[in-house]
Amino acid sequence: MTPTPVRRLPSSQGHDSAPLRSQLVIYSSLSKQKEGFIPLQSDTVTMYTCGLTVNYLMHIGHARCYVFWDIVHRYLQYLGFKVTHVSNVTDISVDDNILRRLRETGESFQQLVTRHTQDYIEDRRRLGIADPYTYSIATQHIHEMIELVQQLLDQGHAYIADDGVYFRISTYPEYGKLSGIDPGKLRTGASGRITKDEYDKESVGDFALWKRAAPGEPYWHSPWGPGRPGWHIECSAMSRKYLGETIDISGGGEDNIFPHHENSIAQSEAASGKSYVRFWMHVRHLMLNGERMSKSTGNFITAREAASKYGAALVRLSLLSTHYRKRMDFTETLIAAAEGRIKQLQYAIAVLRFFKEKKPPTKPKDDLLSMAIGEAEEQFRAAMNDDFNTALAITQLFHFIESLHHHIDKYHELGSNIVEKTLFVLEGICTILFGDLYEKELAPIPDSHTRQLVEFILTEREQLRQNKDFNKADVLRKMLRESGIEVIDTPDGPIWWKTAQPAL
Ligand SMILES: [Zn+2]
Repeated sequence: MTPTPVRRLPSSQGHDSAPLRSQLVIYSSLSKQKEGFIPLQSDTVTMYTCGLTVNYLMHIGHARCYVFWDIVHRYLQYLGFKVTHVSNVTDISVDDNILRRLRETGESFQQLVTRHTQDYIEDRRRLGIADPYTYSIATQHIHEMIELVQQLLDQGHAYIADDGVYFRISTYPEYGKLSGIDPGKLRTGASGRITKDEYDKESVGDFALWKRAAPGEPYWHSPWGPGRPGWHIECSAMSRKYLGETIDISGGGEDNIFPHHENSIAQSEAASGKSYVRFWMHVRHLMLNGERMSKSTGNFITAREAASKYGAALVRLSLLSTHYRKRMDFTETLIAAAEGRIKQLQYAIAVLRFFKEKKPPTKPKDDLLSMAIGEAEEQFRAAMNDDFNTALAITQLFHFIESLHHHIDKYHELGSNIVEKTLFVLEGICTILFGDLYEKELAPIPDSHTRQLVEFILTEREQLRQNKDFNKADVLRKMLRESGIEVIDTPDGPIWWKTAQPAL
């Protein structure tokens, strides 16, 4: 699948992208403040985001993270940066549940995780998320992980114990700088994140780089015997392979801060002696109906269930309606609000396409709308430049959509130039917010057969309306709606658009 190309600046309106780029500020989870964003290389941004542990299907909380990274990726492209985005797939995590399922199904570990990886990539695409430069699959990079572990051993940052290889955090004085954790105060099990059964390590904060396999567990060969890499080492090894020792942006969910990212920093910086990540970003938790998601209580929804039930564009809009550093609650109220907005937006695009076909000359009131769309684009950029404030960007976008509807209701006319300009700006903004779903789901262009058929039915319907046979006219409209065609009657004639079926 080829993602819809993102409109880049400078746009046809002659913007110079450099001043706009320089206005981008990002909140750094490391410095705990907003910082001006300048990438290491002037035109290229390197970005590594933590992907799914593919033991289970992606849920709506994961989707919040991945949709957000897609926004960051697309907005940086819009600003004119080339973005080299790598996202990993953790297909190496072994737990009791996985081992039990392998025994029950007779599937091999590799078969199971390959199937789950395909599901994960499908679910991302279902939500309009662009594929990264590469999906780095953990089991395909065991060699790079072994190399990094060996380097840390050679440098004295790691040691071999009976049950594996550990990172010695006392050799990295800055340990704790991301999470604020004091390594001297770490207690086994105290945080719930330090594995209790790692008895062979020297210090409680030391963490596994390589784990020897227990009988019956999947394993890979290594200089330290059969086993598997620790979770943290995969991101350090794979980001180094594809993006080098220092990367511009990295992040994950807020629960990745400790221990995952703290340990990733320690490994990478101890090995390279350089800064690992310049901008750490973390997305906060998503609640479902006011509570934490939990499979056992049934308060749980996978991303594919949500996309199928509500439509993927609607899910995306809902997820982006809260700023990524705020906790959000995914509720039916939120869905209902997003549903109304999706319809408003579809109608606006349909109206603009309707006028575009008529190719009208310049109209006296076009200047009013020209100013409004210019301001809307400025406001969108200002919100996004302020630490990717999608919540504000969306609010402002819909203020503009409302003013567009008012303008059309009041003046009933738009000139070709302003129609083209408005569509251009709206499509640019929507491609960032909705990704590939803009053309697939939000504003699909009907094929010529559908167009002819709908135009014919609408002509017949207009005849019925003129003959005051409103009942039959309503029946036709209802039939069209059931076939995925929405119709609104206006003084300029019926305006219609195709609503894509929710992705299944
Ligand atoms: Zn990671």
